[in-house]
Amino acid sequence: MAEFLMGFPKWQWLATAAAFLLFAGFEALRPRRSAGAGRWKVWIVNLSLYASGAVLVVLLAPLVMQGATWIQGVLGFPPLVGLGMPAWLLVVVSFLLIDLIAYLEHAGFHAVPALWRMHQVHHSDPELDASTGVRHHPLESLIGAFLQLTLFAVLGLPILVILAYAAVMTVWQFFTHSNLSLPEPLDRLARVLVVTPGMHIVHHSVQADEGNSNFGMVLSVWDRLFGTYRRRPAPERLTMELGLLGRAERQAFGRLLLSPLRR
Ligand SMILES: [Zn+2]
Repeated sequence: MAEFLMGFPKWQWLATAAAFLLFAGFEALRPRRSAGAGRWKVWIVNLSLYASGAVLVVLLAPLVMQGATWIQGVLGFPPLVGLGMPAWLLVVVSFLLIDLIAYLEHAGFHAVPALWRMHQVHHSDPELDASTGVRHHPLESLIGAFLQLTLFAVLGLPILVILAYAAVMTVWQFFTHSNLSLPEPLDRLARVLVVTPGMHIVHHSVQADEGNSNFGMVLSVWDRLFGTYRRRPAPERLTMELGLLGRAERQAFGRLLLSPLRR
């Protein structure tokens, strides 16, 4: 056990913990909605799901890498790095491609019934805060890691940009889910380019049409481009119902782990 945990890049654990504590602190100082009593219990569930997923990915990392390398051998394009682009353009193109892949993967987890069974664990949180950002079924984390690594390998994306994107994502997932009260003009301005808490909260609405919108991870441009962008006026976002209809009681770790097996 200790051996593989040692092998997990320490900076990732540290950066994730630091980013989580940072946004949890901001939320405590300037909350947007009242989280309700007993929210700490959901925190434990959310963080346990995150830890389980991280351990599963680390345990199966050699297998995931082998699979990605094999598919790259069959389908691989010449690496993007070899196309002779200037460094800045290579960074921009790679970042856009990775974020587009993340958008499509997220939309896929909503569209494919077998994947939705896992992703609904993320959406079954009846409130949003920084901890919701890492509330994912461990199998979703594993499948996501495999899909992304494979696509990155097939496209020959530079490893440095992949790591930089992972760092940005670590911060952004906490930011977009945080229960943080931002001035509306600032949220609206930032939404032109990036996903904000005011944009992402609409994705966690109990209403199915709103849940199937705002799939973006870091950049908001994909939702605008593919017509999946939805907005709600700021006052409505304070009172709108979040989560999955009839699932508010299911906040036990074991139940959530087994939930993809249930009808
Ligand atoms: Zn989603």
